[in-house]
Amino acid sequence: MKKTIKDYNLKGKKVIIRCDFNVPVDGGIIKDDSRIRKSLKTIRYARKEGAKVILLSHLGRIKNEKDKEKYTLKPVAESLSKLLKKKVKFINETRGKKVEDAVENMKEKDVILLENTRFEDLDKEKESKNDKKLGKYWASLGNIYINDAFGTIHRSHASNLGISKNLKNGIGFLVEKEIKELEKLTKNPKRPYTIILGGSKVSDKIGLIKNLVKKADYILIGGGMAFTFLKAAGFNIGSSLCEKDQIPSCAELLDKYQDKIILPIDIITANEIKKGVKGKERFINEIEEDEIGLDIGRKTLEVFKQYIDDSKTIFWNGPVGYFEIEEFSKGTKGLCKIIAASKAYKIIGGGDTARAVVEMGYEKEMNHISTGGGASLTYLEGGKLKALDIIDEK
Ligand code: AMP
Repeated sequence: MKKTIKDYNLKGKKVIIRCDFNVPVDGGIIKDDSRIRKSLKTIRYARKEGAKVILLSHLGRIKNEKDKEKYTLKPVAESLSKLLKKKVKFINETRGKKVEDAVENMKEKDVILLENTRFEDLDKEKESKNDKKLGKYWASLGNIYINDAFGTIHRSHASNLGISKNLKNGIGFLVEKEIKELEKLTKNPKRPYTIILGGSKVSDKIGLIKNLVKKADYILIGGGMAFTFLKAAGFNIGSSLCEKDQIPSCAELLDKYQDKIILPIDIITANEIKKGVKGKERFINEIEEDEIGLDIGRKTLEVFKQYIDDSKTIFWNGPVGYFEIEEFSKGTKGLCKIIAASKAYKIIGGGDTARAVVEMGYEKEMNHISTGGGASLTYLEGGKLKALDIIDEK
């Protein structure tokens, strides 16, 4: 068992908490603060115990100076101050005298937030490539390190793995909960256990499918990735997304697990991906050469519903259509509604899927919505969660 924040006496200690404040921002406005709200439990606990709280997080990707303006954590500090009802001091640097002075002057229960850790990426990707000196430097600012950023737990960055290597450490409540929830999918899930996968690329998820097909009872596949499977099954998919090099793997899976892998039977097509185009309903043996499959059809939703209604455990990751365009969002919306109504234990993988569920107002109907799409898929695939593995054992 990994050490958690509860395993340490925090009184008067400088506690570095790596949060996941990677929220959607537009012109300095936070579009969805779920990730900030989900980090509150750990921060509040650290304050209650009398810690001096130093927060670190990344936001977006920083490739040039302009990105810095777009992805400053300043709005996060403001939002956090309101949610905590306590002024969070924002330091617009990631290291140096200003940071060190601010840390030095902290009192118990104070909270400071340093600037986006990925600003360090402008200098030889020091954060993302886990620069040893940087991890060591950040570790030198505190007495205890708590990793509560599930979204990056599968990555080795200076702000997670790097600091953990140099400081006594543990996980926060959010990471602890994420792991506990995902274990429900890997350790004796209640059956039938159904996985629904969508999204664009089959190559991203083929490892996951290979691993999960043995554990799940059914895998329902939609989205762009369904078309490589349909091609492997011998259908003409017109101009739909297809990863040719994945066809043999898909064919092998279909051959071996034909009763478990469920593909669409009808889809919505269009000749171009454009707002305002009218979709055409097609059975999968009716797709024409110049047509692109962009959503699952009504009959497929009915089939998926039967599997979902019959299930006791559900995991869903990936939109089943090009949902950014209204015309092709009906499959994803319909699916969301069906899953929400099911009595199964329902876990939603992060990213687009989590956003779709929240935007549609079904957050409360789900048992768990993961904050990390890539991290939860890596976990389910049986891959390494590098920044978790390094955390001290109890
Ligand atoms: P991913 O990043 O792999 O999870 O894929 C998410 C993206 O897949 C979304 O932006 C969707 O618009 C896209 N997508 C879903 N279905 C399709 C489709 N049939 N054709 C093209 N893109 C799709």
